[in-house]
Amino acid sequence: MGFQTGFEHIVREGELLAKYTWLRLGGAAQFFAEPTNLDELLGLVRRCKEEDMPVRLLGGGSNLLVSGQGVLGLVIHLTAAEFARVSVQDGLVTAGGAAKLSHLIASAVRDGWGGLEALAGVPGSVGGALHGNASCHGIDIGQYTREATVVTFTGEVVTRQRDDLVFAYRESSLDELVILDARFELESTDPEELTKRMQKQWIVNKAAQPLQNENTAMIFRDPGGISAARLIEDAGVKSARFGGAGISDRNANYIVTEPEATSEDVLELIEYLKQRVAERLGVELQTAIDIW
Ligand SMILES: Cc1cc2nc3c(=O)[nH]c(=O)nc-3n(C[C@H](O)[C@H](O)[C@H](O)COP(=O)(O)OP(=O)(O)OC[C@H]3O[C@@H](n4cnc5c(N)ncnc54)[C@H](O)[C@@H]3O)c2cc1C
Repeated sequence: MGFQTGFEHIVREGELLAKYTWLRLGGAAQFFAEPTNLDELLGLVRRCKEEDMPVRLLGGGSNLLVSGQGVLGLVIHLTAAEFARVSVQDGLVTAGGAAKLSHLIASAVRDGWGGLEALAGVPGSVGGALHGNASCHGIDIGQYTREATVVTFTGEVVTRQRDDLVFAYRESSLDELVILDARFELESTDPEELTKRMQKQWIVNKAAQPLQNENTAMIFRDPGGISAARLIEDAGVKSARFGGAGISDRNANYIVTEPEATSEDVLELIEYLKQRVAERLGVELQTAIDIW
């Protein structure tokens, strides 16, 4: 029996990952699957466990740098509607891990549930946001999370309650393979007022990001509350460039890539920025982006 036996309809070999990432970079996944329902997802995860096959979860690709060599094992991409539902009931907002964060925020705001609108303009999925505790202006998704249902690397479905979850700056204890869905406890607020706040946040957040048509990623965490963008500027390395990878004119904490860029260009640029900021300002920058 081959790895794909029984899953031929959802598994592809050698799928190029570049098109799934915001940087538009990266080689192929050995295997790539888009399960259409939970049973298929669990079957795949268990097959990986049985065959000792590495397995990863791809969300919206806005926080990922994939090696030019690609990745061994299986990459799972959740595209089926079943994984992306959002519902609001009695103040409890439930969202699938594959739902867009923007969909969760807009649904909550429309029904008068506030808090998450501070994250308007942050790209990616709900699962990706929970995995890395997405935050903006001191508000993070973790603070509104009541519980999350996950699929473990052994293929079990487990619901983790608030008391069992730890969220810190750009970090969360939700490190299982798949965040299937989560429930958020939000604050009852006038929908009109919330809509205004969401629109304002969106404009503020977008103005601090590279342009819509640029291939980009946010690179570093802000160390101890100091802006990483500011540190890169103060270290005098804002014009650094390796191959097709340079720094955004709008915000020095974003790398932007030209079509000829490679993942290795981005890695070299990251390393260069870390070294120069450490040498010149004595601060160790840590990456926020996940590197595969
Ligand atoms: C223009 C731009 C602006 C940004 N602004 C901000 C910002 O203001 N604040 C901020 O915090 N971040 C910001 N980011 C980073 C990024 O948007 C967030 O980290 C986002 O939450 C990543 O979600 P994603 O679905 O794209 O994850 P991906 O990039 O697909 O994956 C990132 C990690 O999350 C894991 N993951 C994804 N989905 C799931 C899931 N369902 N279950 C388990 N693990 C999962 C992946 O395995 C991977 O390890 C920005 C990025 C860009 C490009």
